[in-house]
Amino acid sequence: MGLDAGRVLKRSVLCPQCNEDYLFTLRAIAGNPELKCHGCGGSIHLSDRIYEPLLSDVKTALDEIDSARPSFVSAHFESTYASCRPSRIR
Ligand SMILES: [Zn+2]
Repeated sequence: MGLDAGRVLKRSVLCPQCNEDYLFTLRAIAGNPELKCHGCGGSIHLSDRIYEPLLSDVKTALDEIDSARPSFVSAHFESTYASCRPSRIR
């Protein structure tokens, strides 16, 4: 399988216990109701209202990643096709 940008790109999530930001991948944020804090090991409940803007940001980013994939492919084929054409038409 190809590289999934959602598993590479990260967003910082505030842990209310240690009051620090920790980085989690977009897929981890979108796919889990709670995250385990890297610092204190506590649970970060993403259902909390303070994470609403973050979750909607992450969802938007993932939608763009998922919808962008076919256009990456077509852009690749278009550039391949373009490079096959003669550079000068007389
Ligand atoms: Zn913590």
